[in-house]
Amino acid sequence: MTNTKKGRVFSGARPTGRQHLGNYLGAIRNYVALQDDYDCVYCVVDLHALTTLEDTDKLRGWTYEMTLDWLAAGMNPDLGTIIFVQSHVPQVTELHLLLSMATPLGWLTRLPTFKDKVRQQPDNVNYGLVGYPVLMAADIALYKADVVPVGVDQAPHLEFTREIVRRFNHHFGEVLIEPQAKHTEFTKVLGIDGEQKMSKSLDNHIEIAASPEEIEQRVMQMKTDPARKFRSDPGHPEVCNLFSLHSFFSADQVAQIEQDCRGAGIGCVQCKRLFAQNLSAHFAPFRERRAELAKDPDVVWDVLAEGARRASVIASEVISEVKDAIGLPKPR
Ligand code: SF4
Repeated sequence: MTNTKKGRVFSGARPTGRQHLGNYLGAIRNYVALQDDYDCVYCVVDLHALTTLEDTDKLRGWTYEMTLDWLAAGMNPDLGTIIFVQSHVPQVTELHLLLSMATPLGWLTRLPTFKDKVRQQPDNVNYGLVGYPVLMAADIALYKADVVPVGVDQAPHLEFTREIVRRFNHHFGEVLIEPQAKHTEFTKVLGIDGEQKMSKSLDNHIEIAASPEEIEQRVMQMKTDPARKFRSDPGHPEVCNLFSLHSFFSADQVAQIEQDCRGAGIGCVQCKRLFAQNLSAHFAPFRERRAELAKDPDVVWDVLAEGARRASVIASEVISEVKDAIGLPKPR
């Protein structure tokens, strides 16, 4: 059978356990959609998670929970998608080392993300933290990805990968592929505080696997239009975080909600209830699939084992090409 796909996509996410709305709208739904047009390689990047050296005892559980969410959301090995754990394909660490030889140190220490990390964890500025973008480049280059889905805030990271690949190819020949960015549609989701990006560590998130009761409880805590003090005050949907989420989860009602909000025809509590219902209904089939998959934990680990096996086939070929191009002596 001929492959009619447009090329190969690679994306990785740190294992963070149960996924939230920000993960879903910013990444997961794009991961699912890309399967129609691309050969997809999706990776749980557990090695990247080590740069902070916190909570390492949670890595296995979080890998399981995140993969369970991915599968329940529709990321599907039966469509040819490879889903695997980064450390299960150790060739990435080899390529990381080889690419590091072609990466000037100044490039790494000048990166704003590195400087931010130094500020955040001054007592743990480890070697891995400096080399983090090289490991990221190795992740992408190892699978000869043509395309990487990125939000606007991640675009500089991909550009860095492209620079490393260009430099490597300049030295050793056109071995690696310079990946193109595929900009995703919904990049930043604010948390229930309405101020900061939704994040588990800030506890301002809503899990996609949350029960209807949990969803309602979290939604009721959401900040809305701060200028709307009384039910009779007209609202300003353009400054309301909840309204921006309505436009995704209540698409067929959003025009009416906007009109009712501006004319004080609906109160925020009522509006939140409606949102909680729609959100809960949207994820009802997901919750069902998740519960079904969770009956046998081996399902997730088997998917990851098969994914690692298939990823290793690609990785072994690419690492051989890279070593050949560099001129490393071959074993007999
Ligand atoms: S009525 Fe709805 S859209 Fe308007 S401010 Fe309140 S929560 Fe936001």
